[in-house]
Amino acid sequence: MSRAADQLSELALSLGADAVGWAAATVPAAAVGEYQSWLDAGRHAGMTYLERQLPVRADPAQRLPGVGSVLVLGVSHAFGPPLVPPGGVRAGRVARYAWTPDYHDQLQPVLSRLEQEAAALGVRARGYVDHGPVMERLFAAGAGLGWRGRSGMTINTGLGAFVTLAVVLTDLPAAESGAAHPDRCGRCLRCVSACPTGAIGPDRAIDARRCVSYLTIEHRGPVPRDLRRGVGDWLFGCDVCSEVCPWTVKAGPLARLLRPDPQLAHPDLSRFFGVSEREFERQWAGTAFLRPRRKGMARNALTVLGNTRAPQGWPLLLDGAQDPAWEVREAAAWALGQWGEVARVRPLLNDPHQTVREGAAAVLGET
Ligand code: SF4
Ligand code: SF4
Repeated sequence: MSRAADQLSELALSLGADAVGWAAATVPAAAVGEYQSWLDAGRHAGMTYLERQLPVRADPAQRLPGVGSVLVLGVSHAFGPPLVPPGGVRAGRVARYAWTPDYHDQLQPVLSRLEQEAAALGVRARGYVDHGPVMERLFAAGAGLGWRGRSGMTINTGLGAFVTLAVVLTDLPAAESGAAHPDRCGRCLRCVSACPTGAIGPDRAIDARRCVSYLTIEHRGPVPRDLRRGVGDWLFGCDVCSEVCPWTVKAGPLARLLRPDPQLAHPDLSRFFGVSEREFERQWAGTAFLRPRRKGMARNALTVLGNTRAPQGWPLLLDGAQDPAWEVREAAAWALGQWGEVARVRPLLNDPHQTVREGAAAVLGET
């Protein structure tokens, strides 16, 4: 690598990246074809923005003309368990990446600093955390940071699966392409067998339509009824396939740049009820919980309470049945059914929203 590349790598490590590497900024046609097939099969569920992003993902030069190579940063979010704050209804699990205030915001200063340094070295550069339309996992493999595990996640032998990827596109000439990182899954199938909803396909691609992470974060409206039990106690996201990976277990908790917040790791479910969307946005500003919005988090809380029957959550089932959002009332009908509280479900047969009426009827038909 050039001296400029070495300097940027060293700076990235000094700013807190746990692993760095360089990859050629080319996206092989086979990778584009594979991605297109995944889209064609509808496995991206409601994430239609991924269809729109494909042309830019396939051609990084659209983001940085003259792009030659990519600096890839791996940042661990393998946190140890934070203490559970006292009080409240703390019954749901949150995926680790959301235990910390929005990592996009936290990593942006690192990327900005790298862009500045690149400019000082006469290199044009543009950084992205995973919200950019860039094939970061492909570049991570090309940079030797890891391989795509059966779970579809990038697995790093030293960091495991809890790795946030960020990339800096540069106009440095492409590095001599080394061999892609070897596949270290071997005969392991732990993630496939542990997935609660059977979302992991034989081709190492996730079917988002069945994935708890998608269903609790991106999906709008009711979670499909046949998948609600599989959601278990996951309030936001799902870490199962990453947690069980032997490389994650071996790595242990080693996050250092990002820090967990106990109020995000163990949120009080009652804070998702009895507040307006605007107040919710104010209270949870700068966190990943804004993505599903207040009504999504309340819906998820009721799915968790239906599955766990955590006694302290009972008042929230009653609040949920009166919620202004029909998605929340529908989830409350289901949760009340899980608790065997059919008398509380019956009034929802007269709900103004048809889906809630149908949900209540389904609950009563099942009991
Ligand atoms: S995130 Fe959870 S639901 Fe999704 S593939 Fe992994 S284990 Fe399955
Ligand atoms: S759990 Fe096993 S199969 Fe799944 S990604 Fe990790 S090593 Fe690969």
